[in-house]
This record gives sequence, structure tokens and C-alpha cells, in this order.
Amino acid sequence: MMKTALVCGGAGFIGSHLVKKLLNQNLRVVCVDNLISGDRRNITDLFANPSFRFVEKNIVDKFEDEKPDFIFHLASPASPNKKSPRSYINFPVETLLANSSGTYNLLEIAKKNKSKFLYASSSEVYGDPQISPQKEDYFGNVNPTGIRSVYDEGKRFGEAITMAYFRKYSLDCRIVRIFNTYGPKMLWDDGRVVSNFINQAIQNAAITVYGDGQQTRSICYIDDMVEGLLKAMFSDGSRGEVINLGNPDEKTIFGLANLIKKLTNSKSEIVFEPLPEDDPKVRKPDIEKAKKLLSWEPKVSIDQGLLKTIKYFRAL
Ligand code: UDP
Repeated sequence: MMKTALVCGGAGFIGSHLVKKLLNQNLRVVCVDNLISGDRRNITDLFANPSFRFVEKNIVDKFEDEKPDFIFHLASPASPNKKSPRSYINFPVETLLANSSGTYNLLEIAKKNKSKFLYASSSEVYGDPQISPQKEDYFGNVNPTGIRSVYDEGKRFGEAITMAYFRKYSLDCRIVRIFNTYGPKMLWDDGRVVSNFINQAIQNAAITVYGDGQQTRSICYIDDMVEGLLKAMFSDGSRGEVINLGNPDEKTIFGLANLIKKLTNSKSEIVFEPLPEDDPKVRKPDIEKAKKLLSWEPKVSIDQGLLKTIKYFRAL
């Protein structure tokens, strides 16, 4: 019998790549998305596939029991950019509920069907970290009432309730903390640093660096991230574990602006805009645990990954 994976947030950037990979591995896929930050265009080429089904729904509302063997919970807005119509800043309550009530609903489905469960948490649980790189046992430095708290605390609650189901009901679950990820199918209007810089650079428009650009991020190419998610779900050693997934190749945002300018042969000037509130100053994953438990590490270099992403945005 073909196994079924329920992918919540399956019309989003990471979710839609994951759905495609699961279908290639001969699973039935039910994709649930309410399209707040997901996009139907990410999955239209899958509608003809008989193993694929799309359900337009908010996971906060109870929905038909799909009897899945596997549940991937990636359903949440993820962009902190208040200028983006899709950001969690503009959907604060929806974001909190997707990660709290939504996670609860999915955990109940998992408990009832004995599904394996994966919760997509975020490097945002570390807040503005005071240690770097961030290891899974670091508790983080989060402003519980700040503008980003709807996402940070939402993810922290999601982690806590997932662990409660692990401890109380022995649910076969794992938590992955996803660090900054980029690649084709990123929403062009999501306001994330990579999509903004590439779109600005290819139009020779000003590249908008927030703050002095000395804050750092470590960006992971989508194919590497999807590989990590699959290994986290299907590897034996991941049950009850919290695992960072990301690329430790750390860059300053100013450095990234210059790199993208160079790779696009752009004439854009780099301009400086105010730094958003509570913007983390550093971010870099420690991935020793993923290496050990999942035999996973990213393979795509930043130049290779950015060139593929630039090609995608040029074609849009
Ligand atoms: N950023 C920037 N210019 C932009 C968009 C983002 O300088 O046009 C900065 C942002 O302030 C942050 C970093 O790039 O320091 C990463 O931002 P992003 O929204 O991609 O994700 P975050 O890692 O903050 O969740």
C-alpha cells in the first residue's frame, strides 16, 4: 500500500519543494494550505498527478482526518518584513494560531493515526542570540512581547506542545529548527533578504540594506534543506529530537548585497535603511547534531545556489 504524507504549508516555498520530492519517492501527498503566504502557482504543475491532492484550508480549523502515515507541519507565515503583504508582522494572530492551535490539531491527528510527525520550527527560537554558532541546547534570547514575538513565541509554543505529545503519548515526532533558506519559488514579494536583493539587483534598482549591514545570516539552498527534512522524518535516530538544519556559511548582509550585485552584473547602488526592531545581529547554525544523527550536511555553495536563484527570478 502506498503511504500518505500530509504536508501542511505544502504550497509555500519550502513545502512545495518537499511535496515534489515526496511524490518522486512514491508517496501519496495531501497538501494543506490556506495560501496566506503559500501560492497556488507553486503546485499547479502537480494537479494532474493522481497521487497529489490539494486542500485549501487553515490548519487552525478542524479538518477531515486524512489518516496520514507522515505529517510535516510547515504551515506558517515566516517573513518578518513589515513591508511585505505576506509577513507575519501583518498576520500576527494567524501566525500565533497556526503554530499553537494548528500544531495541536495536527498532533491530535498524529496521535489518532500513529503518524510520524515533524514540526518545522525556526532559528527564530534563539531570538537575538548571545552565543554563536547556535547549538540546539541554547535556550535563546527572545523578546516575549516584541514585534517578532508572534513568530518566535509561536514557534516556541509549537516546540513545547510537540515535546508534550512525545513525553505524554510517546508520539513519534521530531522538531527541526530551520535557518534561513533560499532558492527558486521563494515568493518575490515576501521581503526576505535574498529575494529582495536579487530582484533589486536584476532591475538595477537600489539594494536596500537594513541597518549597517554588519548583522549576519547563514543561508541554505533549498535542495539541501529538503534533503535535511526528509532525513529528519525518515532517519531512525530522530525520534524526540530537536535538530538544527541550515548552512553554517555565515555572511554579513552587506557582504551578501555585494555578492549578489557581482553575480548579477548589476549597476545597483547599495542604500542603507533603518534596521527593523529586534533584528538578530548574528545567526549561524551549529549542525554537528544533524551530521551525526542524520548524516546530513549542505552540499550547495552560496555562489552555486545564488546563481540558480538568480536564473529563476530573471525568468519570472
Ligand atoms: N534585510 C535587508 N534588506 C532587505 C531585507 C532584509 O538588509 O531588503 C536584512 C534584515 O534586516 C535581516 C536580514 O537581512 O538582518 C535577513 O532578513 P530576512 O527577512 O530574510 O530574515 P530573518 O533572518 O531576519 O528572519
